Amino acid sequence: MTSKETLVIHPPEVELAADNRSLVAPIYQSVKFEFDDVDEVSKNSRGERSGFQYSRVSNPTLQQLELTLAALQGRDSCLVTASGVAAVNLALLSLCKQGDHVVLFAEAYQPTRMMIRRILGRYGVRHTMLSIEDLAGLERVLKETPTRLITFESPTNPILKIADLPRITAMAKEHGALTVMDNTFAGFHNHGQYDIDVFVHSLTKYASGHGDVMGGAVIASKELIQAMRPDFITIGATLDPHACFLIQRGMKTYFLRYDRQCANALVIAQFLESQPAVERVRYPGLPSHPQHLLAKSQLKDFGSVVTFELKGGLAAAKKFAESLALFATVSSLGSTDSLVLPPQHLAPAGMNPEERRWSGITEQTVRLSVGIEASADLVGDLAQALAKAV
Ligand SMILES: *Cc1c(COP(=O)(O)O)cnc(C)c1O
Repeated sequence: MTSKETLVIHPPEVELAADNRSLVAPIYQSVKFEFDDVDEVSKNSRGERSGFQYSRVSNPTLQQLELTLAALQGRDSCLVTASGVAAVNLALLSLCKQGDHVVLFAEAYQPTRMMIRRILGRYGVRHTMLSIEDLAGLERVLKETPTRLITFESPTNPILKIADLPRITAMAKEHGALTVMDNTFAGFHNHGQYDIDVFVHSLTKYASGHGDVMGGAVIASKELIQAMRPDFITIGATLDPHACFLIQRGMKTYFLRYDRQCANALVIAQFLESQPAVERVRYPGLPSHPQHLLAKSQLKDFGSVVTFELKGGLAAAKKFAESLALFATVSSLGSTDSLVLPPQHLAPAGMNPEERRWSGITEQTVRLSVGIEASADLVGDLAQALAKAV
């Protein structure tokens, strides 16, 4: 008779019959996985059989999410990470070594710039920073300096410039540089048709979708992911199975949410463009966007971020953001809830005046991330806040 102290450690097992399956995959909330036979453990460690041993390395719930995301982005393999930043950093760290040269853009996500300039720089990785609009500069740099990789985003944050993907990927191939695209803004259903080597995503945004879970993903060919995997396991920024489950659940409504967000964003962009207090609206789906035709040729849809400038400057932008009732004043994007970022939170850090000019961010810049609320309510809220701000 087992004592009750032992029983709570080894609870009764519940087995499902083979013809009785759970419709939603269970959460494998276990760090460890055992085998019946010690030799099988060794085989699994040597990669000679399929199986799981330790959840920092992999886990069935994590693997289901990896398979889903790789298929959506149109590549073979995926590594799911603890945050979007972890995905960016894992890709950069595992692809670069001392002495390599990297090209990045002033319009890049701030932590990506920090990683390359501050951290990789410490380990002897050199870089050149350009504007994403300066393709002649890119060509010149690639000709002059052997380059390991080019990292970029499109649409860029928060000004929504469109990277010319056919030209950037062609130049990269010609000069033997890898391309690493942070595709968070465009989503998993966009850009897969281009010859891009590595995609990274923040799953915190559109994938989880509800603003309550963090995660990231690196998506690439089987060969590239296999080459990165030992670094990934060693760095240890794996996502917990419960978070993987929540993101997998979020993915069920990914297309519904994305479609609704894009439709709402277009209505809002058009509304703002008609307002006298608004200096300029930036949304790739508007014919007034300077790269609208390029955006239309590259993207299936134009995303949930709408950026605009108010005529009244910083004071008006602050008053506007504070007067909104339905838009929370917070960074992040791609969630069910609408969000607003006033200019103080957009100001690029650690850039010289020329780089700041390339970033396109001014004291008047306001970024909206449009959620899935009723568009008429969102427009009403924007209208009352504009009235207070001018
Ligand atoms: C949010 C974001 C990230 C970082 O993602 P986290 O999950 O917050 O670490 C990286 N790139 C882009 C473009 C983002 O918007």
